[in-house]
Amino acid sequence: MPELPELEIAALQLRAFCEGDVVTKASVLRDRSARAQGVKIFEENMRGRTLESVRRHGKNLFVDLSPVKNVEGLLWIHFGMSGKFAFADKPKAEPSKSTRVVFDLKSERRVFFEDARLFGGVAAGDKEEVEKLAKVAALGPDALDLRGGKAWKRALTSKKGDPEIKVALMDQARVAGLGNIQAAEALYFAERSPEARLSSLTDEDYKRLAKGVRETIKRTLDATIPKEGEQVAYTSDGAHVENPFRVYGREGETCGRRKCSGTITRYVQAQRATFYCPECQS
Ligand SMILES: [Zn+2]
Repeated sequence: MPELPELEIAALQLRAFCEGDVVTKASVLRDRSARAQGVKIFEENMRGRTLESVRRHGKNLFVDLSPVKNVEGLLWIHFGMSGKFAFADKPKAEPSKSTRVVFDLKSERRVFFEDARLFGGVAAGDKEEVEKLAKVAALGPDALDLRGGKAWKRALTSKKGDPEIKVALMDQARVAGLGNIQAAEALYFAERSPEARLSSLTDEDYKRLAKGVRETIKRTLDATIPKEGEQVAYTSDGAHVENPFRVYGREGETCGRRKCSGTITRYVQAQRATFYCPECQS
């Protein structure tokens, strides 16, 4: 499932391929992908718009669109469980089986939004309206915008309740961008158990967590940024990449931390597989 690093890569690719280009036509191939506003409205709202700048917030991509009648425009793309882009240099390039939206560009090239499992989607139009559809106001700060233990503490404790720390890390209303893998990895770095309650975290823990998140995201980006001409390989698909993680997918292996002889353990927490070392994460 795409998390912050995959979205960061998608944003880089989209920016490089078509920032400044004009969408002559957008075609939705599956109604479900435009369910936030309907196929017709989406297609109409995209026609003739310039893709001005690509931004990422958490697991959402936003593209500022040229204004219509002085109203700023916005395109929202969310990746759900399986979203990704494919890019084609030819105007007649064929979509794949999992292509859901085709963007025809003035430069006679195409961008395909692919989403095999159909949990993702798109919306476009007036900026304010699209931000409402994307529930931007309910999103916490982006994980890469948070620096230092204090900022992490503020974000994670911004909502009521005392959830388990891994659940809190994945709550997009507290911090946007982390998913199952990055949360598990950051907790390994911070040497805290995924099950520890938020209220048990010390200032030192928050500091380590802040560092841990940056470290794990950087490691994932280094391992997965595609070389020219390559498609994005999601680390969770295991495709083309050696497992770059310390705990994720390493059940039964010996903990890689110096002086720790623990065994990486897998269990299910809030319906998601969680990996951790019971020896050094408490
Ligand atoms: Zn360990």
